[in-house]
Amino acid sequence: MKLKTVDAILDRALIGCDVSPEEGVFLLKQTDPKAIAAIQITADKLRHAQAGDTVTYIINRNINFTNICEQHCSFCAFRRDDGDTGAYWLDWTQILEKSQDAVKRGATEICMQGGLNPQAQINGKSLPYYLKLVETIKQEFPQIHLHAFSPQEVQFIARVDGLEYVDVIAALRDAGVGSMPGTAAEVLDDEVRRVLCPEKINTATWLEIISTSHRLGLHTTSTMLSGHIETPEQQIGHLEKLRSLQKTAINQGYPARITEFILLPFVGQEAPKSLRRRVGRDQPILADALLLGAVARIYLGNWIPNHQPSWVKLGLAGATEALTWGCNDIGGTLMEEHITTMAGALGGTCMEVETLQAAIASLGRPYQQRDTLYQKVGS
Ligand code: SF4
Repeated sequence: MKLKTVDAILDRALIGCDVSPEEGVFLLKQTDPKAIAAIQITADKLRHAQAGDTVTYIINRNINFTNICEQHCSFCAFRRDDGDTGAYWLDWTQILEKSQDAVKRGATEICMQGGLNPQAQINGKSLPYYLKLVETIKQEFPQIHLHAFSPQEVQFIARVDGLEYVDVIAALRDAGVGSMPGTAAEVLDDEVRRVLCPEKINTATWLEIISTSHRLGLHTTSTMLSGHIETPEQQIGHLEKLRSLQKTAINQGYPARITEFILLPFVGQEAPKSLRRRVGRDQPILADALLLGAVARIYLGNWIPNHQPSWVKLGLAGATEALTWGCNDIGGTLMEEHITTMAGALGGTCMEVETLQAAIASLGRPYQQRDTLYQKVGS
């Protein structure tokens, strides 16, 4: 196919047609600067049409309550065994102090995820421990939105306690979880997962848990860990699965959806050596992340209108640039970040609101604070 064909694909996308998987792969494989520029322009136009010019941000705080984890994902520099140097597990007082600090600093969201710690149980059960995490925060700060526990954590609780996913998700929702992070998706391709995260849930289970969450009224985000061993075909396969999942939620009339797509380019600086050697570099290639982000906008935008780059992974300058390649949201203040920072990311662990606003304003675009579900906050 020639550049003319790229134009034809982009023209169809601009009038609202969905790009096919073959077309998506074709776009991703472009190396001609003119073709790449046309992809960027199209992604930016679609962003304007689907999400507007205003760039949103959220005031939130991460709480990673433990890094003790039973699994050994090949990209993970965060996990520790119990007793290792650097292993930690926050107690209830520390969790409350962090929550209080978040509220004091204007956060509307706490994003809480942790390692799969086999000792994290109450009376020999996992679910009561997780419910206590939720209740500890929600009893003190009922107004805060708790964006918590990945599909991998849901499966961990269900496995340890011998429960169905539906029961775990419903219990977490009823205790006060407001939405589920669509993390642990990595690349939704079992061939990639066997190398990257062989102990993690497989593709089908990730999709099942997210879809169950939508059915039960719990919104989710969606993510993709890009730029390691995956091929363009596998990247598009991932986007296709997200698009289908969202179509199912909409067509079945489920009360919840995927609220956003977040691209997470791989940072390998402190990753375990075998994967690091195989990938062959420590920091993401910005140009690859920008092109993939643009193709993700073109591929998903009709169905998932909000797209967010990761300033932790790309740095603030890279994330700001991504706002001209199809993204409409710059993410959160985070207040602390461990998982990617321990992997060697250079983007930092915390952003002031004014810094995010200045980055957005540097593009001549308006900014607006939002909540987790993309409702406007303040004036
Ligand atoms: S990515 Fe998550 S599940 Fe995998 S080893 Fe790290 S903490 Fe554990």
